[in-house]
Amino acid sequence: VKTTKWTISAENNATIVAVGDNVKISLQNAQEDSNEALITEVLPRATKLSRIAAGRRDSFEQIIVANIGTLVIAASAVEPPFRPGIIDRYVVAGLAGGMEIVIVINKIDLIADEDLLAVLQEYAEVYRGLGYPVFMLSAVTMESIDGLRQELIGKTSVFAGHSGVGKSSIINALMGNDQERTGRLSKKYGRGAHTTSSSVLLELDATTDSYVADTPGVREFGNFEIDPITLKFFFVEFLELQTHCRITNCTHLHEPDCAVLRAVDDEKISIDRYASYVKLYEEAIQREKKKRDKT
Ligand code: GDP
Ligand code: ZN
Repeated sequence: VKTTKWTISAENNATIVAVGDNVKISLQNAQEDSNEALITEVLPRATKLSRIAAGRRDSFEQIIVANIGTLVIAASAVEPPFRPGIIDRYVVAGLAGGMEIVIVINKIDLIADEDLLAVLQEYAEVYRGLGYPVFMLSAVTMESIDGLRQELIGKTSVFAGHSGVGKSSIINALMGNDQERTGRLSKKYGRGAHTTSSSVLLELDATTDSYVADTPGVREFGNFEIDPITLKFFFVEFLELQTHCRITNCTHLHEPDCAVLRAVDDEKISIDRYASYVKLYEEAIQREKKKRDKT
């Protein structure tokens, strides 16, 4: 399947065709008994996960995956150690692309002391309070794998998270390690066998239209671009509060009479979440500066 310079796309400053796109194809100009087809149109994307291509001056949007409803953000309790900042980064990227968020904390079988368990449970409560389901699970003991499976029924989801947190292991646990099924469904994307370099759509449950996409681009996905002004709208706990800030375009960093800062002081907003906001905001500002310097 190929694109041509006549391929019509709903978004013109973005990847023309990405994994997960719905397209219209034409077989008319294809050679007899070749497997080729031409993409005539890429349909509008319901959701997307994207980043801005590194080193480009314009803001060309690189689409990593399209039309996946749910982003499952995977972290681990230990090995590698739990870091909430990474979760917040993915939450923003998912929300910016119109996706639903689910969070998993894997490797709970390795938690050796009560203190760590208490800390992780506290984080889980913070995210649940924001409306994101959290599963503390183990791909090894299978604890809470069923709960996650139930959550993903009727959805098409994709896993993101740092290397080594156990994404493959969780997906295998969810699938019941059915390699045959993996092989069959990978053909949906026309890429042959399930290897780490190809994207596959795995069937979690066919009767309910439940799928898990496994794409290398998302696995390695870490950096994305968001403009500093819109960032605050992806921290859901700020939304209602920020209508009470004195300054209309309050960044919630240093302004007087800021409702968000007050809520942080009163411990109504998690200090870690606020720290993530500040970090992402500063990164966004730095990126804008760099871009301005180049032009
Ligand atoms: P990925 O890079 O996120 O896909 O991570 P993998 O699924 O490859 O897992 C990385 C390592 O963690 C492997 O050695 C797994 O066996 C191990 N692992 C994955 N899940 C668990 C778990 O729940 N408990 C323990 N103890 N180890 C796990
Ligand atoms: Zn404010």
